[in-house]
Amino acid sequence: MMFVPFTRVLDCITDTRFPWWFCQWKENAACPLDQSITRKIKVALTFDVEQDSGSLGDGRVEKMLRFLKTISQTLGSKKATLFIQSNLIEEYPEYFKQLNNNYEFGLHCWHHDELWGDAVWFVKDRPLAKKEKIQVLEKSIKIFQKHKLKTPRSFRSPNMVINQESLDVLQEYEFTVDSSFSSFKSWSLPYKTKHITEIPVSSLPVPKVSFRFGLPYADYEVVNMGNLARLRQEVWQQNIRKVIQFQTTPLLVFLAHSWDFDQRLFQQMIHYLESQWDVCYVTMQEMAKDI
Ligand SMILES: [Zn+2]
Repeated sequence: MMFVPFTRVLDCITDTRFPWWFCQWKENAACPLDQSITRKIKVALTFDVEQDSGSLGDGRVEKMLRFLKTISQTLGSKKATLFIQSNLIEEYPEYFKQLNNNYEFGLHCWHHDELWGDAVWFVKDRPLAKKEKIQVLEKSIKIFQKHKLKTPRSFRSPNMVINQESLDVLQEYEFTVDSSFSSFKSWSLPYKTKHITEIPVSSLPVPKVSFRFGLPYADYEVVNMGNLARLRQEVWQQNIRKVIQFQTTPLLVFLAHSWDFDQRLFQQMIHYLESQWDVCYVTMQEMAKDI
């Protein structure tokens, strides 16, 4: 029989997407929409630059290299933030150097199998000890500096899990923005912690109930490339409108990975945003100033 550690079972019990959190779904669904007409929105385009397929990958990076070669042409003058798996800088420094002046560089761990929060039920990766987190930050910052890349001040953990100990360690190494909030599990606006500003990837404020494993399941559809590719265009656009209507000063954070990036769908999204709103593209550090 397969042994599942208690910490992963505990995460499953506390995951508010499962039916035993039904009351919480109702509470979130009751949040009022801000119906005022909003024209201006700030958008952070964020990209996790990592080995192909992230934690499920086998170390190949063909898609990542293709992404790095073409991204500045795709974005034109739009600002964006690249969260980088830092061990890849050592192997491909030239690819990163050519983008250094145009975009914010954030940190997306050293290897992709690091867990910066407590254990989660759907990933076998082991949570890092505090000492290991410090080692990761030290060697990552060194590698950025060695190749004369801007030192990262924004962080996003692999699989988007984080805990207080990680935030404290990040703060010690002068990170000021974290974007690791599990927005696929629950919705939140950006908020300030003691020293770090948390800017979650945007997700649907009102969960959609579907059936998985034969049980009702609440899905906070994240504003990411996976959902842009999966959802019908009208549904995707309706999600974006809901995210924006929930905020008086609307901020939208979009996530794509270097390996799932689809240029055609991305341009389609940009076209939709610019046809509906007056869009200002900002880096994560710039967005933090408004929070
Ligand atoms: Zn990742």
